[in-house]
Amino acid sequence: MQKKQRWFDEGALVLRSVLERLGRGSDLPAATDYYACPCCLVAYTREALETGELTEEHVPPRVLGGRGLVLTCKDCNNSSGTYFDSHAHRRADTEGFLRGRVTGRYLPATMYADGIPLRGTAHRTGEGIQVFGVPSQNDPKVQAAHFEAMDAYVDSRDPNPRISFTIHGRYSEARARYSWIRSAYLAAFAALGWSYVLRPVMKPITDQLRNPTAEVLPTYMFRDLSAPPELRRILLVDDPDELRCVAVAMGEFVVFLPGLFRPLTWPQLADAFGERRNIDNQLTVILNGKEMSWPHSPTYFLDRSPTVKE
Ligand SMILES: [Zn+2]
Repeated sequence: MQKKQRWFDEGALVLRSVLERLGRGSDLPAATDYYACPCCLVAYTREALETGELTEEHVPPRVLGGRGLVLTCKDCNNSSGTYFDSHAHRRADTEGFLRGRVTGRYLPATMYADGIPLRGTAHRTGEGIQVFGVPSQNDPKVQAAHFEAMDAYVDSRDPNPRISFTIHGRYSEARARYSWIRSAYLAAFAALGWSYVLRPVMKPITDQLRNPTAEVLPTYMFRDLSAPPELRRILLVDDPDELRCVAVAMGEFVVFLPGLFRPLTWPQLADAFGERRNIDNQLTVILNGKEMSWPHSPTYFLDRSPTVKE
């Protein structure tokens, strides 16, 4: 609780000074302290800590290896868990399964022989992936046809049998990406502060977070599959100039947020980075800029450096 109180006090102080600097001092009544949730921008008084309306949020989500980093409101924290983070978690699970990082797990799957489906379960062992049919999930006639096709392949010793399987990860790619984009946003908020997130160019992300079932933001992001899962980086990219942005890397995921100076909008960033990727969706350019240390609690760098102006 002590940590949350400190985060509330520091956040409230910094928020008030930033609003005054922006000429919006009257946005919040002067009589008491307010901390705003960085996702929905709703302001809360200190009682919200006691009532549980303000919660410690892990960035990235705890199940994806994150640590407590900022206060957000309970509604935003919960809705992110339901609409975004559960999808990012299921995707990580499915990919870990397919890449062989996770063994002993079972996932729903469909196997095809000559295009005839057999629904069941995939199991990853140290040896590889096994797929089993589950009788209750299959029409007996289709199941018989599937086994007949399999037997025919075995008899024919065909070197290229038409056999394949699909793992059903049951996640939405867009929602999994929003989970990572949201984590990047919260990390940038903790590092840079209200001066960064209250700019008009950031409005689409708060609109997206307040409407989790809509698709307001472009879902572009990049992945570096060679990056270690514990990697955490914030780079204020200024070279090349046409890709200026705040690049936030968490493990293999890299999210590009609007930069500090002459910021590109979200669609402009999506276009600019889209032009620089190759056919394998890899980034073909080196990004240079100022590296910021990854925050372990909110540091509000821009808010505390009034000389840094847009
Ligand atoms: Zn909120």
